[in-house]
Amino acid sequence: MRKIVFGPVPSRRLGYSLGVNNVYDKYCSYSCIYCQAGRTTRLVIDRMKFYEVNELVQQVIVEANKKKPDVVSFVPNGEPTLDINLGREAELIKKELNLPLAIFTNSSLLTRQDVIDDLMFFDIVSVKVDTVKHVTWRKINRPHPKLCLEEILDSIKSFSKQYEGRLITETMLVKGVNDNEEEYESIAEFIAGLRVDKVYIQAPIRPPAEKWVKPPSEDEFTKAYHIFHKYLGSKVELLISSEPKSFKFTDNLVEEIASTIYVHPIRIDYVSELAVKHGKNAEQIIDELLRNKIAKIVEYEGKKFLVPAIRR
Ligand code: SF4
Repeated sequence: MRKIVFGPVPSRRLGYSLGVNNVYDKYCSYSCIYCQAGRTTRLVIDRMKFYEVNELVQQVIVEANKKKPDVVSFVPNGEPTLDINLGREAELIKKELNLPLAIFTNSSLLTRQDVIDDLMFFDIVSVKVDTVKHVTWRKINRPHPKLCLEEILDSIKSFSKQYEGRLITETMLVKGVNDNEEEYESIAEFIAGLRVDKVYIQAPIRPPAEKWVKPPSEDEFTKAYHIFHKYLGSKVELLISSEPKSFKFTDNLVEEIASTIYVHPIRIDYVSELAVKHGKNAEQIIDELLRNKIAKIVEYEGKKFLVPAIRR
């Protein structure tokens, strides 16, 4: 049932994004408390093979030609740079498709030259900077014990100087963890030292790995925005509202939803709207997903979401 490619989903940053889930569930070098894919079950830093290159590339080409997305994004439910074939996959996709190629990385493996070489194939690279403080990093990103924050921050800095594509940073703010002025000042000061095109401040809007994770108040976001703006001007944008609901799915909604929720939990009310659009019955779709143990329902901030049944 599960496919490597999912969506396109409406991305608040990039338009309609065809997602590539190029690592297995859930290999990551971090286990972020807010991760919408749940807790990391395989905390690893060694790169490895996940799928056959041709299988992945063919799936992307077929789906992109069928669904006409605005962008193809490597945004798995884990860390995409763990994939040892990443560069080859990106190179082949670029040869076949006239579409921008994006990747969302947690930046932890940017210390490796082979990862940097692979990222050069991408038109858009998004790097995670939730904090520059060691204690907060351990608390929010829960990194693999062999990783070193200072080395990661240095490598982001040097990558930003060599990379010629569009570089984005993403900072997730979590209530009681990194929502204070000292954090905003130090993160913004660090990002201001990068060659960066866009700086996003985000809030957890989908069910997080840890139930206690909450978004900061709107006042806190305003404070964070003003401090970031002082260092980075108009490059800063707040991403704290829900994404648009229009998914570009085929009529096989059960399969489309099943492949998407591994990376991107979907709100139940969005499923109802999708069903109406495709002339289907939402209750039947949800029932099939639950009955076959593909999905389960989780509530977050007053909204109900479909997430994978196996999610921890
Ligand atoms: S948010 Fe990204 S980096 Fe953090 S645990 Fe999830 S997949 Fe890994």
